[in-house]
Amino acid sequence: MATWTRTLTRPDGQSFRFDPGSFALELLVSGGPGELRVFEALHAPDDLAAWLADSRLAATAPFTAADVRVTEAELAAVKELRDAFWRVARSMVRGGDLPSADLDVLNAATAETPRPVVDPHTRALTWARPITGTQVLGAAARDAVELVARGGVRECSADNCGLLFVDTSRAGNRRWCSMERCGNRHKVRAHRARHETETAEAQ
Ligand SMILES: [Zn+2]
Repeated sequence: MATWTRTLTRPDGQSFRFDPGSFALELLVSGGPGELRVFEALHAPDDLAAWLADSRLAATAPFTAADVRVTEAELAAVKELRDAFWRVARSMVRGGDLPSADLDVLNAATAETPRPVVDPHTRALTWARPITGTQVLGAAARDAVELVARGGVRECSADNCGLLFVDTSRAGNRRWCSMERCGNRHKVRAHRARHETETAEAQ
């Protein structure tokens, strides 16, 4: 699959492109538990439909928000899964035990996924309409349990960032959520530190 990036805007107003490398990890940037509530993007079922039309699910086969049916209960389930996966994924990157109640939430949600079908006229791959909230929940849960089993989830190396991604680079040495943001900030800081050392040594 081609690289799929999402544009994020942080509370400081800076926008940058971020490719978390998987659908479940992409869902994590729509909000989360605790201090992550300030990032909440999914307030109503329509928010999830719009968010999905922009997601890597649409990179596989395009669809619009009008092709998605989400109930209030399905939205709540998707957010519960997202928050559970946040806790699981953070435990993975930080090397702790995985919270079993949260793993239960992931495991219980893998039943349904969007159904790929071929358009009889164009022979293009598409999703059976409507795509339901329960199918979306299942797609995220299946991706999440695969990631837990496979490993390889990483946290951005920058302090105070916390974005999670799976490294799909061939070299396997990805450190930053985004070069545009944390990678560049690191380069600028490293450059400044080197410059200050050189200035101090010259005095
Ligand atoms: Zn970062």
